[in-house]
Order: sequence, then structure tokens, then C-alpha cells
Amino acid sequence: MSKKKILTIPNPILRKISEPVKSVDKEVKNLLDDMLETMYAAPGIGLAAVQIGILKRLIVIDLSKVGEKMEPLFIINPEIISKSNELISYEEGCLSIPNQFAEVKRPSACKINFIDYEGKKKEMSANGLLATCIQHEIDHLNGILFIDHLSKLKKDLIIKKNKKQNKEIDRVIV
Ligand code: ZN
Repeated sequence: MSKKKILTIPNPILRKISEPVKSVDKEVKNLLDDMLETMYAAPGIGLAAVQIGILKRLIVIDLSKVGEKMEPLFIINPEIISKSNELISYEEGCLSIPNQFAEVKRPSACKINFIDYEGKKKEMSANGLLATCIQHEIDHLNGILFIDHLSKLKKDLIIKKNKKQNKEIDRVIV
């Protein structure tokens, strides 16, 4: 396993649509392992392959708390089968938009089908934080970021803050 660099906005790759994988071979498994290591090191609770620059429909998630047993979830080629009408709000952040957070409303439950690490077809129902996390990551596979769910005003503010932050980081390096 090796840790990869996480792409951040405004990298245009983050806006591209990822392709489904044809089979869960060694290459895909290695990639999933790298994604998991990258996510744990960040640290984050979810990561899509596009965030390390690979346009494949792969997601890793782990909602276990620090000190608890790790519970990695590998999600390949996910499809949302259904979403609840009821919405839930979480303050979301994203490893590709460092240090910026905003409240996002999404369906509180969803049902997906996907392929797991062993290449088996699975179906899963999720609610609460897991449902939000899955929807956030599937958005990544479609080139969508959490800021796209905000009002234009809030979105522009985050983009502006991010630009300022990048400039400040440059200043320190120079
Ligand atoms: Zn994200």
C-alpha cells in the first residue's frame, strides 16, 4: 500500500465523470488499498478514486472512531436504487476542499447496489451519517462536490476562502 496525493479544488480532474471498472482485479484491489491508506492518513472518513486522480468508480469509507476497530467499506461501481424523501443535515467537509465546512441537506436514507472487494454484487441500505457519506462520495464519481449543493453565495465564499488559503500556503513556502 502507498499513500497518494489528494487533489484539491480547483483541479479540473475533480469535475470529471469516473468510469465503471470492468472487473475487480489485482490492480483495482491495489488501488483500493492505496485509497484506504490515503484516507486514514488524511484523516478522512471517505475517499473516491478521482480524489487521487484516478477516474474509476471506486469509493472507500470507514466511519469507525479513533481507537475502535477499523471497519473499511469498499464500494465499486455504486448505483443508488432509492433515496428517502426525508432529509437530514450534516456539516460536511471534503479532503479536496481543505478546512472548509458547510451544512448540506441530503436524503436521510439511501439504498445502493455495488460490487465489493471480493468482486461480489451487494445491496446495502444506509441511513444517517453513512447515507450522507455514500451520497457525498457518489457525487465525486459524477464530478459533483458538496459545495454544489449550497447557494451560489455560500459556494462562492468557500471558493474565495480556498483561494486565499492557497495563497497563504504559498507565502509560507516562499
Ligand atoms: Zn469529498
